[in-house]
Amino acid sequence: MPTIFTKIINGEIPCYKIAEDDDFFAFLDINPNAAGHTLCIPKKEVNKILDLDEATYMGLMAFSRKVGKAIEAAVPCERVGITVIGLEVPHVHVHLIPLHTMKNATFQYKEKLEPSAFEEIASKIRAALK
Ligand code: AMP
Repeated sequence: MPTIFTKIINGEIPCYKIAEDDDFFAFLDINPNAAGHTLCIPKKEVNKILDLDEATYMGLMAFSRKVGKAIEAAVPCERVGITVIGLEVPHVHVHLIPLHTMKNATFQYKEKLEPSAFEEIASKIRAALK
């Protein structure tokens, strides 16, 4: 049974896509800690980050760094926080979170966004990636 993130990669479930290459995919978190909260995932379906082979782990970090720099350029914030949890979705994902205060890092405060706001922030981050 494919994970929900594999279904997103395959286009079976919609997402606000940010970037994709042969091995990795980035899209906005649907229940963001802050506007611009993005997930970077390997296309390879692996549950826990420490179980990734080293090349995929390093590649995911390099991909996340690129996307994180674009978020920093596109979304006003103090800095971009990088977190890996994985208790909800068993498919490795790196959270890139625009931080304004510590509460954005806690996963207990969520920001409600309209679809148009998701679209707008995704297109700003995509533009900053170019
Ligand atoms: P965790 O596994 O605890 O690191 O969290 C999984 C994250 O995936 C949460 O922040 C969810 O909001 C996010 N998420 C779950 N389903 C989707 C989806 N269909 N599209 C975008 N983000 C999702």
